[in-house]
Amino acid sequence: MAEETIFSKIIRQEIPTPLLYQDELVTAFRDISPRKSTHILIIPNKLIPTVNDVEQEDELTLGRMITVAKQLAKEEGIAEDGYRLIMNCNDHGGQEVYHIHMHLLGGEPVGPMVA
Ligand code: 5GP
Repeated sequence: MAEETIFSKIIRQEIPTPLLYQDELVTAFRDISPRKSTHILIIPNKLIPTVNDVEQEDELTLGRMITVAKQLAKEEGIAEDGYRLIMNCNDHGGQEVYHIHMHLLGGEPVGPMVA
């Protein structure tokens, strides 16, 4: 059984964080330390620690994360200029919170992708 992170508490609103979106599969909220003027995290409600732990039954949830990212980008007014979606996996990927999440970054040029 994977250990819960702070994100599970945010989903349940045990840590009050304004939610930008929530449904039966996913939740979205602003990153606590934004790297760009728009920096939103879209996460599954189910605790999936890393992308390595994604299963076939999670495909609907993963698809929903992208649909919600697209919708939030439109609501933020950044869709036309563009944005970047990022998922980090494990140590080499720079993952800090072990509950998968998609970063939605934009509102200004995100710059070239650097490895
Ligand atoms: P990672 O490096 O795991 O891909 O990204 C984790 C992100 O979660 C970081 O950008 C970090 O700022 C954000 N984060 C960590 N703790 C909290 C929190 O308690 N609230 C919010 N809103 N974001 C958090």
